[in-house]
Amino acid sequence: MKNLFREYKEGMLRMERELGCFFSVDELGAENAFYQSEFRRCNQQVRSSVDGMVIALKDMILCKGLPVCAGSRILEGYIAPYDATVVSRLKSSGAIIMGKLNQDEFAMGSSGENNPYKVSRNPWGLERVAGGSSSGSAAAVAADIIKGSLGTDTGGSVRQPASFCGIVGFKPSYGRVSRYGIISYASSLDQIGVFSSNVKDVARILENIAGYDEKDLTSINIEVPRYSSMLGREVKGIKVGILLNFLPDELDEETKRFFDIVVLKLKQNHVELVSITIPYIESSISVYYILATAEASSNLARYDGLRYGQIYKTDFNLEQVYKKTRSAFLGEEVKRRILLGNYVLSSKHYDNYYLKAQSIRRKIRDEFEKAFEKVDVIICPTTPTKAYKIGDKLHRPLEMYLGDIFTVPVNLIGLPGISVPIGCKDFPIGLQIIGKYFDEAMVLNLAHWVQEVRKE
Ligand code: GLN
Repeated sequence: MKNLFREYKEGMLRMERELGCFFSVDELGAENAFYQSEFRRCNQQVRSSVDGMVIALKDMILCKGLPVCAGSRILEGYIAPYDATVVSRLKSSGAIIMGKLNQDEFAMGSSGENNPYKVSRNPWGLERVAGGSSSGSAAAVAADIIKGSLGTDTGGSVRQPASFCGIVGFKPSYGRVSRYGIISYASSLDQIGVFSSNVKDVARILENIAGYDEKDLTSINIEVPRYSSMLGREVKGIKVGILLNFLPDELDEETKRFFDIVVLKLKQNHVELVSITIPYIESSISVYYILATAEASSNLARYDGLRYGQIYKTDFNLEQVYKKTRSAFLGEEVKRRILLGNYVLSSKHYDNYYLKAQSIRRKIRDEFEKAFEKVDVIICPTTPTKAYKIGDKLHRPLEMYLGDIFTVPVNLIGLPGISVPIGCKDFPIGLQIIGKYFDEAMVLNLAHWVQEVRKE
């Protein structure tokens, strides 16, 4: 038994050297959890559908006793004092927590390059990005180092890297999974999401972490279905919406081609295809980058050098401590967003930016609600392009922001959304399926169907 785990660990560390997925590995904790799970298995005492499953966590998620830095120097050396609710649920379900995974600093980014430590590489081509911000979570699963992982998704950070790495990435409805114990980026948009190579394991992980938590005021108290036993149902008769006004020019040819193939397959299987338009959806990126930066500028105010992590030692006064600490230990992109956030919240610009963005957000939500009166799910590509080369977009932030075009509307409204692989000539391409509020079961079932039909 011992050798099995050691062998696995050595193989994992060898691969890890190439890919750079982990910030820290909890060798002892994982080994203990492994033996305990083996013991339960031998004694027919398996606790849950994830008992013995090797899972790791994006470094935004607190796991008691393990370092947590959210990809930032400012939190270097900080040890999590408690478990996030999702972590305590995974532990009591018998999952093996392998460690903490690489990401963009404070989850701000789409390529995993925005951090001072290292870039996670895409297992499909080491010179390519793994996506972001949950870069390590996606790359480690795609390389089969771990079975599943958790990430956070504020504007696409689970679905987009899943698409780039050819795996499944799922963001549940806002309120479905407790956010207690995650480091906040933009609280009205943040949601914990799940990665695995297949829909069934995503469903298994989800059913073990979802559900009401009194420690999170935004958590909703409704029953959690047993998602993993609800897969494989007929798709005939399902109404699938295709967004007509949402296939931008930047969409690459191959993505479009694979998307069209899925649409054809759906048609052949008597799924009802409905063309829909969602007015204002093209404003989602602008709305997102106003609201996310506004919320981030307030959430990140707590990193002042006194309460957590690093402090810039200086003889100056308190204000100097704040200034020097934040200047020295926060990265460029994080600073850019704090500045943007403060700007849109400033009294002079508040009405023009923040309030306007909130009102467009409401309009987009109303339009989605109208669309969902006609359809059960909506589909579109997950990303306009495939994984690009490391360094390609690093100094062109606007271009990088535009890559979130398909994923951010889902966060603005709080809907469930999944990315499932639909094709791969050289690098993988994902399909996004968006569901009604709290209808995760429908989204997972259709994603499972897409996954199975690809094997034919
Ligand atoms: N790429 C988006 C951003 O940089 C989304 C990030 C996320 O979902 N955490 O804000």
